[in-house]
Amino acid sequence: MTKPKAPSPAPTTSEWVRRGRSKIHGGGLYAAKAIPKGTRVIEYVGERISKAEALRREEQRIAARAQGQDGCVYVFELNQRIDLDGDVSWNTARLANHSCDGNCETDVIRGKVWIIAVRDIAEGEEITYDYGFDFKDWHLHPCLCGSEKCVGYIVHSLHRWRVRRALKTQRVKIQWWFFR
Ligand SMILES: [Zn+2]
Repeated sequence: MTKPKAPSPAPTTSEWVRRGRSKIHGGGLYAAKAIPKGTRVIEYVGERISKAEALRREEQRIAARAQGQDGCVYVFELNQRIDLDGDVSWNTARLANHSCDGNCETDVIRGKVWIIAVRDIAEGEEITYDYGFDFKDWHLHPCLCGSEKCVGYIVHSLHRWRVRRALKTQRVKIQWWFFR
């Protein structure tokens, strides 16, 4: 006999945000009112999974992406053993888009992931943060944030110089080939 599936929890809410359509990508989160710097804007919830399970899901996502499906990454590292997969319907925080110059950051506080304002945010501004992706596979995640700091790809701010360098070398190679 199969176990009856538990109903999904209701989507999380926060007094600070509302959902909306994003200029950056699909759905987004917007400030419902002015948010002071340092505010815990919304908790990032999901399923707690082992590292092995996280790896299995990551491989699944890569395969799905290769077939042209949505291959977004929603996994957060909580500690050395446990990850948090935020790809669940009730995790409203997953709607927040990446920006290379975000107004928020994520932080793990006592086992919970929070999206926290790094500056004062005006009502109606889109909530964004640095997804902090690894340099590996950088070319798979184009960025449309449009900020002045944007390198065109979603990569952790510490790795952006490597993307710039990679793009430069590629251009040089292409030109060399073109003018030969
Ligand atoms: Zn960007």
